[in-house]
Amino acid sequence: MKKLGVIIVMYEKESEMIIEYGKKLIERNLTKGTGGNISIFIRNKKLMIITPSGVDYLKMKPEDVVIMDLDGNVVYGSNKPSSEYLMHKIFYEKRLDINAIVHAHSIYSTTLACMNWELPAINYLVPVSGGNNVRCAKYATFGTNELAINAFESMKDRYAVFLANHGLLVGAKDLPNAFNKTVEIEFCAEIYCRTKSLGEPKMICDNEVDKLLNLFKGYGQVKE
Ligand SMILES: [Zn+2]
Repeated sequence: MKKLGVIIVMYEKESEMIIEYGKKLIERNLTKGTGGNISIFIRNKKLMIITPSGVDYLKMKPEDVVIMDLDGNVVYGSNKPSSEYLMHKIFYEKRLDINAIVHAHSIYSTTLACMNWELPAINYLVPVSGGNNVRCAKYATFGTNELAINAFESMKDRYAVFLANHGLLVGAKDLPNAFNKTVEIEFCAEIYCRTKSLGEPKMICDNEVDKLLNLFKGYGQVKE
């Protein structure tokens, strides 16, 4: 008997996780509307699972999520992939330590990105970025290869980068950690904006940042 209405979803677990974290982006006020995007990389298959373009996170279903190869071909899904997929792809091609990416239009990181400022070591959580700051990548039009290259270069030795006049990009070994870093960088960006309104904030010195980087190697990582 032919089953009607059954949709086979490839990588259902990963697709559901992308939807779960897409909802969290909205619930935690880290992005607005359909802004921002999320992906997971299946490294042994060289496949990227990414949110579709223009679909509401709260209405997204596993079959809406798009699967692409690293040549940019859609191998599964009837939707268009996120217009920012090049910015995800470049990290999966060139960074072995990144298997998930979150791109958000969160208020305070975007505020700093619109000033073309970096986030300095204002709080002990800044080193979750992998260093003593979060740099701001040079402006390029959204969805372009130029933006992907600018983001990649400015995220060297880091797990987070601001995109000038646009938003925040975070990568990590898996999606729970990428989301966690997004929340923590956004918190630090908010604190930096608030302290700047009071005067000149005091920074954590580089020696202490090195100590924190060592501590964060084993601490503060979320389990999948
Ligand atoms: Zn964006």
